[in-house]
Amino acid sequence: MNQRELFLKHVAQTSIAPMALEIVKAEGVKLYDKAGKEYTDLIGGISVANIGHRHPKVLHAIKSQLEDYMHIMVYGEFVETPQVQYAMKLTQHLPGSLNAVYFTNSGSEATEGAMKLAKRVTGRTNMVGFKNSYHGSTQGALSMIGDEYWRNAFRPLIPGIVHLDHNSFEALDHINEDTACVLLEPIQAEAGLKIPSKEWMQAIRNKCTETGTLLILDEIQTGFGRTGKLWAFELFDIVPDILLLGKALGGGMPLGAFIADKKLMDAFSDNPVLGHISTFAGHPVCCAAGLAAFEVLLEENIIKTSMPALPEITSGCLYFPFPRWGCIGFDSFETNKKVIDRCLEKGLVTDWFLFASSCLRISPPLTMTDDELFESLEIVGSIK
Ligand code: PMP
Repeated sequence: MNQRELFLKHVAQTSIAPMALEIVKAEGVKLYDKAGKEYTDLIGGISVANIGHRHPKVLHAIKSQLEDYMHIMVYGEFVETPQVQYAMKLTQHLPGSLNAVYFTNSGSEATEGAMKLAKRVTGRTNMVGFKNSYHGSTQGALSMIGDEYWRNAFRPLIPGIVHLDHNSFEALDHINEDTACVLLEPIQAEAGLKIPSKEWMQAIRNKCTETGTLLILDEIQTGFGRTGKLWAFELFDIVPDILLLGKALGGGMPLGAFIADKKLMDAFSDNPVLGHISTFAGHPVCCAAGLAAFEVLLEENIIKTSMPALPEITSGCLYFPFPRWGCIGFDSFETNKKVIDRCLEKGLVTDWFLFASSCLRISPPLTMTDDELFESLEIVGSIK
């Protein structure tokens, strides 16, 4: 059996039609398969490879951390320099109230931790999410996602959660003195990049403050420059009580985080002590990689702030609100899937969105040049 057949037989599958590309090498914005075919990565591992694949400074940080130690003790007990340094660096680039970092292994775990923290801090159990939002696949995060198709097969889920209409002012009446937290993405990624109005985001912030509800912003996909700002909450001039990070946070290694004021975070260390614990969270090699990637992002001017020229696309509807983030809407999932498959043949890796299956995803490494982006989109647009 070849690798592909073994993959289908022995690696648990998540769909009946995986891309099943056999990539043997990745570098910058390029991927290479076994036959030596080159692909342009238009999705960056779903917004993970923001600084490109295998940046030399990230590789160096990983190698030098391997020389010192890998896992040595459960999270939170020993002073591990990569964690400390990365937590410090992140908080230096966040508003003052976001000063304590709880590292996790994944984005879903960041959501879980934040939900628990909101319950513990407020003493309330009701939570508010939004239709078409995605926050992860574990049972707490799944309870918060805003799509019945994905939730329904796994009931019973967490009680006391309502899913409101996104960008609706009337919906905000549901946030009250019984609400522990409101969880939302600043831009709904899996809905095909739904951007709410600044007024609405500010109204949520105000409603949360008035009712003593914690505002949790999920920047697992929008963080680290995806929107042209370091953090998407800057677009709305608001600051969340808890910020969720993942994906690009680890520079290609598995890492998530929820970040809050230390006064809130301290709730996990008392009554019960060890209120949230994890063996591998904040793994030193992942933190070393993430810190190096964050430094590259900041120091090498990687975040693009001006819009590139884009080709005219007539086969679908090109929507490109950010310098390195957009999508193309087609008439159906079938058309989209056909285009995605043809893209692969032509050496372009793309994908669809969970809640917008007729939209083709474009979230390349931020390091992709304007010319590379233009040429790639031209190829997508030429597919009939
Ligand atoms: N929130 C958002 C906005 C995401 O895009 C994702 C991952 N697609 C998650 C949470 C969950 O992260 P993970 O897959 O690392 O658990």
